[in-house]
Amino acid sequence: MEKAVGNKTSSSNFIKNIVVEDLKEGRVKEIITRFPPEPNGYLHIGHAKSICLNFELADEFNGKTNLRFDDTNPVKEDTEYVEAIQEDVRWLGFDWEELRFASDYFEELYNRALLLIKKGKAYVCDLTAEQTREMRGTLTEPGKESPYRNRSVEENLDLFARMRGGEFPDGARVLRAKIDMASSNITMRDPVLYRISHSHHHRTGDAWCIYPMYDYAHPLSDAIEGITHSICTLEFEDHRPLYDWAVAECEMEAVPRQYEFARLNVTNTVMSKRYLKQLVDEGIVDGWDDPRMPTISGMRRRGYTAESIRSFCREIGVAKSNSVVDERYLDHFIREDLKLKALRTMAVLRPLKVVITNYPEGQSELLPAENNSENEEMGIREIPFSREIYIERDDFMENPPSKYFRLFPGNEVRLKHAYFITCQDVIKDENGEVVELHCTYDPKTKSGSGFNERKVKGTIHWVEATHAVPADFRLYEPLIVDNPEEAEKPFLERINPNSLEVQQGFVEPNMKEAAGGDKFQFFRHGYFSVDAKDSTPEKLAFNRIVSLKSSFDPSKA
Ligand code: ATP
Ligand code: MG
Repeated sequence: MEKAVGNKTSSSNFIKNIVVEDLKEGRVKEIITRFPPEPNGYLHIGHAKSICLNFELADEFNGKTNLRFDDTNPVKEDTEYVEAIQEDVRWLGFDWEELRFASDYFEELYNRALLLIKKGKAYVCDLTAEQTREMRGTLTEPGKESPYRNRSVEENLDLFARMRGGEFPDGARVLRAKIDMASSNITMRDPVLYRISHSHHHRTGDAWCIYPMYDYAHPLSDAIEGITHSICTLEFEDHRPLYDWAVAECEMEAVPRQYEFARLNVTNTVMSKRYLKQLVDEGIVDGWDDPRMPTISGMRRRGYTAESIRSFCREIGVAKSNSVVDERYLDHFIREDLKLKALRTMAVLRPLKVVITNYPEGQSELLPAENNSENEEMGIREIPFSREIYIERDDFMENPPSKYFRLFPGNEVRLKHAYFITCQDVIKDENGEVVELHCTYDPKTKSGSGFNERKVKGTIHWVEATHAVPADFRLYEPLIVDNPEEAEKPFLERINPNSLEVQQGFVEPNMKEAAGGDKFQFFRHGYFSVDAKDSTPEKLAFNRIVSLKSSFDPSKA
């Protein structure tokens, strides 16, 4: 596991400024943050932003971060997600102080609700969900008070206990806060605090049939854990008065504060667990960790490194207004991360056999090849060369346009790390399809021999045929396309039919040793990662992380 860089000072942002002030003024002694996922799906790159923000902020000031599952909605939640989320947070390089669950606090939350009832601050309401919605009012009209609003404390205590006792069916009653139906903030118009749901909870089993709402459970959980800075996304800005109300009226000892930042949006993708689950459930992708998914597990499988994701999250910064980040911006960070680390080898994705007719039959040799031309320390390896090799189909044209410098009949090119070869004959099958090339090589032109009698304009890559290791190469395009004419269409109608293309080719023999997750730069094709799930001893599977170059200029991001 990679370890996050502790105490790394990242650039300033408005939340960090608040933290600095709070420490300076003595309002807090220690910074305690939390990351509060709901275990209803796998984490995505948007969550990574929140994880980096929470953990790095606390870390920078020698504070702590809890991982707390917001498990208040049992119908959608599952232990599979609880485990996957922990794995993803760890893989990103973060270690939580404490692992907590909102369900750990169910008893305490219930007791605090009793306190609210006793103070006349909460009541049991029998309106249906529909009636409640109708009476809530609008932005311009105040809401109407529920006819159950003035129930006595005794009656409320009795009904709430019976709700807990399982006497009523789902939806029959709710517990509501008694705040202000005329508030200009709709969130404050007697929000629901508890609902009845006779459903099995992945941790508390059947102990409860009433569950607290997020707006009630969240501030209290923060207070119980002594969270100082509760960081969430902008859509919760209107909920902040309710957050403060709950903490104050429930008489919590610690007073956490909520701060909102802009969520991360990325082009050409969807980023909500609900939508991502749909892609999985409908079989549009091969699971939550499909390499096309914007999930942490999908990105890990694709080959993104934790380091590149952290750099991306740091670089996009923390803002107060929503914006959309170009998905190609992330590619910049993975290229930067792998540039000097990844072994640069040759892979042929769409193979075309070449027979070097003047190379002695049965003979072969080993040629030295540098492992990374930008990082000498990575040393050299030896690659076999013989009479039969594979080259890239695209590196040959029978009738090339002018300025085509690769292989065509009569033309000479350089084989990377090897010799010059000249195309002599083109072999075709009965359909006229090119199936093999016959070339000759010039032994004097061996790479590194200092040969300079003549020059060639094209260099192509290759793999020796008898030792080549077969491999599948999976090339990706965005799963979903945001083209402006289709912006209104539901995302399931914007699925890119070309999001996955599989090529069957070959890699160098030394790649036999490659393990799942190993990353390489394939000459001219880009950065690839070995897929742990789909590679077999007979055939490796490589996921293309990114191509080598992008049309996108990160300096303009
Ligand atoms: P989703 O719609 O994907 O389920 P969510 O906000 O409901 O997102 P939670 O599990 O409740 O998911 O989120 C955990 C934390 O991650 C929250 O603090 C939330 O604000 C944050 N978060 C979720 N999505 C993003 C995003 N796109 N950018 C930044 N933070 C995010
Ligand atoms: Mg949610």
